[in-house]
Amino acid sequence: MSKFIELGLKEPITRALTDLGYETPTVIQEKAIPQILSSEEDLKAFAQTGTGKTAAFSLPIVELADYDNSQTQAIILSPTRELAVQIGKNIEDFSKYLPNLKVATVYGGANIEQQIRQLKKGAQIVVGTPGRTVDLIKRRALKLGNVKWLVLDEADEMLNMGFKDELDKVLEATPEEKQTLLFSATFPREVEAIANNYMHNPVEITSGQKNQGSDNVSHEYYLVTEKTRYPALKRIADINPDIYAIVFCRTRRETQEVADKLIQDGYNADALHGDLSQAQRDSVMEKFRKRNIQMLVATDVAARGLDVDSLTHVINHKLPDQIENYNHRSGRTGRAGNKGISIALVNRKERGKLNPIERILKKKFIQVSIPTGKEICEKQLFHLIDKVENSEVNTAEIDTYLPSIYEKLSTFSREELIQKFVSLEFNSFLSYYENAPDLNKITSRDRGERGDRERGGRNGRRMSSENMTRFFINLGRKDRLNPAKLMGLINEQGINKSVEIGAIDILDTFSFFEIDKNYESQTLDAFASNAPDFNGRNVNIEITKTERKGGGGRRRNSSRRRNDSGGNGSSGGFGRSRRSKPRSNNNNEGGRERRGFGRSRNNNRK
Ligand code: AMP
Repeated sequence: MSKFIELGLKEPITRALTDLGYETPTVIQEKAIPQILSSEEDLKAFAQTGTGKTAAFSLPIVELADYDNSQTQAIILSPTRELAVQIGKNIEDFSKYLPNLKVATVYGGANIEQQIRQLKKGAQIVVGTPGRTVDLIKRRALKLGNVKWLVLDEADEMLNMGFKDELDKVLEATPEEKQTLLFSATFPREVEAIANNYMHNPVEITSGQKNQGSDNVSHEYYLVTEKTRYPALKRIADINPDIYAIVFCRTRRETQEVADKLIQDGYNADALHGDLSQAQRDSVMEKFRKRNIQMLVATDVAARGLDVDSLTHVINHKLPDQIENYNHRSGRTGRAGNKGISIALVNRKERGKLNPIERILKKKFIQVSIPTGKEICEKQLFHLIDKVENSEVNTAEIDTYLPSIYEKLSTFSREELIQKFVSLEFNSFLSYYENAPDLNKITSRDRGERGDRERGGRNGRRMSSENMTRFFINLGRKDRLNPAKLMGLINEQGINKSVEIGAIDILDTFSFFEIDKNYESQTLDAFASNAPDFNGRNVNIEITKTERKGGGGRRRNSSRRRNDSGGNGSSGGFGRSRRSKPRSNNNNEGGRERRGFGRSRNNNRK
């Protein structure tokens, strides 16, 4: 029998919960549900994201709402569109056996007329972002005169985002005698003020100790310099081949830059921030949920509505400005009984910021050394061996080819064969990290020299200019080309998967890229025969014989030389992506485009 019945919920609801796999209530649900069901007192709940707070406030409302009355009885305010959509969806799931209960979700950035039509049909529960809710109240499309429940979810975040006026307006539109349920992970002065002004002797409940992080999360920090911050991030990804993480940045710009670099370096990453359109954000989140993206680089606000329980890591590329936000961030991992690791990349100056966070968490950060190249190679190698050990062989499919394959490989011993297969996958990794510096030893004094070396590409493997051919391509920034898109375009041409791509220079109307000299003609042929099209333009590439230093090599024309050496191109000097051929959609990793080593090909990216 579902334990939710004991909390006083009726059978159609507990049946829906069983369908969702909710068997045992979480702490906040155990405390909040009976309280709201049995009393009309206001409620102030300390609850972080991941504690099951959505069900804690929604289930009693779903239980008590009058299904025969189509007027709005509950208004739930949430800081972001994503979170609002998530809450609306949860309520639909909870009420799937209550056909007369309707929920409407309203948020900015979407067609308001459509939302008005939905409201007109009648919805007992409305979930909304503050701005759009006020808009709809003003247009008289949303009437809150009969509201019995007002929920302020993530109240601290709504105030952080500057929604104080909107909250006031919504509160004014609701009747005096209603039950206000305020959920917040932190209680700064502004949230207390809302509680004092609009709530009457609220009952307080907490999902654990106030502001304290989940017990399932361990907190680690890596000491970096500005030069090693990004290489350290890459190494953390490389030492965790199955990483599934959000990398938090403070600004949209930082977010985009880090994501671009990771993409260019061949990681399965993407950016999520407020400069993206709603459709782009939805698409990125969907890919992340499906694990087509392993590392989501995000701002705090954009990552709010993401409902993912199985993150292995949360990485603070930079610590948040407000220390309470560290808690929000780290609370994204260690959810639903899973273990998680929250990592902070800090320089010497920033290390001091960890002390107040430790006081809030009541936990100590553990310092972890940035993994060395050798450690990473060892980890990756055994990961590869594990994958070989556990891979399923589809004999029906390959049986016909096996005799000739055995025949071809018959001259090799077992050991030689193992060596060859392992080398095939592993050589580029080994050579990338061969001679890689120990990033822990890089101090701010010598960081320029050695930090740059890591940035320069796969050490040991990185080909010197004389081993690379430099290509001209007739696309530039004006065509919305960037390094990631260029790599995607190259990937799509089906050139040998292990080819090394060198520096990329994106200029206004054209660009340059380097490719391993041995693949020079293959690259030319591939582009010529595929005749690719990019944003409606036919793509042409040509070999340039120029020296990047500005030597007397042959150029297409002088203006190009000026631009090329003028420093206004975005030099793609960072590490190179290992490239692989497109996989078919029916690959046995459920559509994940992932090769070994936590890296992936970058094609199909737009
Ligand atoms: P929330 O804190 O509301 O964002 O919930 C965090 C995650 O826990 C969501 O994915 C919920 O679907 C899930 N969840 C909430 N309550 C339960 C429960 N009692 N049993 C299992 N999963 C739950």
